[in-house]
Amino acid sequence: MKYLSILGSTGSIGTSALDIVRMHPDRFCVKALTAANNIDFFSQQIDEFKPELVAVLDEEKALELSRVLKGNHRPEILFGEAGYCEAASYGTCDTILLAMVGAAGLKPALCAIEAKKQIALANKETLVMAGEIVMAKAKENGVSILPVDSEHSAIYQCLKGNLKKDVTKIFLTASGGPFREKPFDEFKSITLKDALNHPTWNMGHKITIDSATLMNKGLEIIEAVHLFNITHEEIEVLVHPQSIVHSMVGYKDGSIMAQMGPPDMKGAISYALSEPDRIDLQMDFPDFVSLGALTFEKPDTQKFPSLEFAFEACKQKGTLPAVMNAANEVAVSAFLEKRIDFLDIFKLISRTMELHTQIDNPDLSGIIEADCWAREKVQSQI
Ligand code: MG
Repeated sequence: MKYLSILGSTGSIGTSALDIVRMHPDRFCVKALTAANNIDFFSQQIDEFKPELVAVLDEEKALELSRVLKGNHRPEILFGEAGYCEAASYGTCDTILLAMVGAAGLKPALCAIEAKKQIALANKETLVMAGEIVMAKAKENGVSILPVDSEHSAIYQCLKGNLKKDVTKIFLTASGGPFREKPFDEFKSITLKDALNHPTWNMGHKITIDSATLMNKGLEIIEAVHLFNITHEEIEVLVHPQSIVHSMVGYKDGSIMAQMGPPDMKGAISYALSEPDRIDLQMDFPDFVSLGALTFEKPDTQKFPSLEFAFEACKQKGTLPAVMNAANEVAVSAFLEKRIDFLDIFKLISRTMELHTQIDNPDLSGIIEADCWAREKVQSQI
C-alpha cells in the first residue's frame, strides 16, 4: 500500500491521480490533499477520499472549506505555504505527488525532500527554478524524484535496462500545440479561446497556454537537464503532432528506445506512483492502422522563440532559468485575464531576460529574489 499526499488535487493531474486511486483502493490510500481554490470540488474530494490533513491557499479559503464540508469526516485544515509544506512532509505519507502549478511548488518540494518522502514530480517549474539545489538535496537525503511529465516519464522508462554512459541523445517530443500550422502573420489575432484549444492533450489552463507558445517544451528541456543530468546540447526537440511517441533516448550504437502510449496522463502518473509495477488502467492502445503514420518535424523557432529562451537559460544557468519561468508565469496569467495579446507573452519574457543581471551559483534566497524581480518587471511592463 502506498500512502499518498497529493498537492494540487483539484487540477488536471490531481484529479487523474485520484481516478487511479479510485480504481485501485487496494494499492493507494490518500492521507493528505491540497488545493488552492475550487473549494466546492475540493470538499467533494475530501468527502470521498477522507484525507487526515488538507491545505488551501489562505485563511479565507480555509474558513470557506470548513463551512462547505458536509460529511462526517473532518480533516485538519491548514493554509498557505506552511500548510502545503506540512502536507508535503506529513508523517503517515510515503509518497508525495507534487501537482501544483508554477513556482508555488518549490518550497513544498524541498520540505518533502527534507522529510525523505518519495516524490512524483508533475511540477516542472520546481526544477526549472532551482534544479541544482533540488537535485543535490534529493541526493543528499536519498530521495528519488520520479517524473510525472509524460516526456520525462518516457525518457525515464527508455533509460531502464541501459547504461547512462551510453546515451548520446534525447529526443524530446512536442505536439506543436494548436498553432503549429498557423502562419505567423495571423498570430496577432490569436484569441484566448484559440490558445486553450489543445489538439491532443486535455490539461489545465497554464500548461495549455505554455503548450501553445512551446514554452512548455522550453521548461521541459531544463527539467530534463536536471532530472537526467545531461546537457542541453544532447536534447533535440521534435514536433510530433500525433502525441503517441512521448519521447526517445538514443544510444551510441545507433539504437533508439521510444516510449509510446495514448495521450493520457494517467499512464505517466501511475508509473511514477508504482514503478516498476504497471497498474491496470483499462487503457485502449492507439489505433495504429487508422493513425497511418507517425510524423516528426523540426520546431519553428521563428514562430515560437520559447525554445531559444530555454536554451539560452540552460547556457547561462544561475538565476536566468528562474527569471524566464517567473516572466512566463506572469505573462501567461495576464494573457488568461485578457490583459495582453498572445505575442506579448514572447516579448515580455525576452525583454525581462535581457534586462536581468545574471547571478551565478545562487542559493535559494538568490533564486527567490530573482523570481520576485522578474515578476515585478513583467507587471510594470504590462
Ligand atoms: Mg509534458
